[in-house]
Amino acid sequence: MVYVTGFKCFRCARKYKPQEIEKLPIPRCSNCGSALDAVYDYTSIQKIILRDDFMRNKPNHWKYWAFMPVKDLSKIITMGEGGTPLLDNRKLYKTGRMLIKYEAANPTGSFKDRGSSLEITKALEFGKNKVALASTGNMGASVAAYAAFAGLECRVFIPDFVGVEKIRQIKAYGAETISVDGDYSIAMKRAEDYVVSHGDSFLTGDYPWRSEGTKTIGFEIADQLYWHIPDHVVVPVGNGTLISSIFEAFRELTLVGITDRIPRIIAVQVENCDPVVHAWESDLGEVMPVSNPRTIATAIACGDPIDGIAALRAIRESGGEALRVSDEETLDARDRLARNGIFVEPSGAVAYAGVMKKKLEGTIVCLATGHGLKDMYGIT
Ligand SMILES: *Cc1c(COP(=O)(O)O)cnc(C)c1O
Repeated sequence: MVYVTGFKCFRCARKYKPQEIEKLPIPRCSNCGSALDAVYDYTSIQKIILRDDFMRNKPNHWKYWAFMPVKDLSKIITMGEGGTPLLDNRKLYKTGRMLIKYEAANPTGSFKDRGSSLEITKALEFGKNKVALASTGNMGASVAAYAAFAGLECRVFIPDFVGVEKIRQIKAYGAETISVDGDYSIAMKRAEDYVVSHGDSFLTGDYPWRSEGTKTIGFEIADQLYWHIPDHVVVPVGNGTLISSIFEAFRELTLVGITDRIPRIIAVQVENCDPVVHAWESDLGEVMPVSNPRTIATAIACGDPIDGIAALRAIRESGGEALRVSDEETLDARDRLARNGIFVEPSGAVAYAGVMKKKLEGTIVCLATGHGLKDMYGIT
């Protein structure tokens, strides 16, 4: 049973039937080129989600299958992604109550595994035997792992600033790595060109399948808090897929009547790559790209965020805000988390750096997105 009824463009609101999107090599709005949001039959989902067995099941990625566009549940590709802990350590905050959603606990060490699980499931459903993508490292490792698990070939186009440990992780899973002379946007163009000219390959990346899979972080947060919505959810922003997926999850929970409000979504970017913060501060409708961003938070060095408009919508419609932190504040946050037992890579500490800077009140959920072992910058 699949409950997806169509897709809608974030920018121009054009609507598509699922079959129209599934046929596209690059699943984006064919009218304006923007990102697409899946629309579901929420009345039918409501019947499943309010059942006792759903309520009793432990939070885990595929528990929320009804909110994902999958045709046959017996064919999903899963490596046990999701079900990550919400950690409570009083030493890490002074005001309110802060919980850390520890996404490093996923199979390849980042939240990207949620999206990869759905993407590789879709690649098989479409009968593809190869996948290709551009990645600053974590998505590449994640897709490479899930592709290898499912027996698909994987090609990863990598921008020039990505650290050697991340490239090694991708290679370890047997994927082919192609170094691109340029930033993430250039790598993405190369991956898209490759898929357009190779009909047996499937494009993975920040397109609708990935964002639908990434929503489960939001569902899990609400579920782990017994459906009490926190006051703030603090999220690092690269391409904007993570933040918009979390917002979408909380919005969908209100649509099925399980919760009655959406938390304030706080976006955090680093100073040298802050196009979403800039657009929010200047009240712009579009996100102006930053070219060739340089920051130690390499996982979020996306100068031209694909889901930038969706990220702005998440911030604005939730009554949230956008903040920037420096590389130095990010490393301080990384060290402070690690001294309290929670080891993340620099990008994984950006949200916590935002929490330390802003001193938010109430119940705060802070995303810790990638494992410390992936990038040990500055640790001697
Ligand atoms: C991908 C990633 C992000 C940012 O997610 P976007 O969807 O690109 O905004 C943040 N932290 C880590 C560790 C990541 O791998």
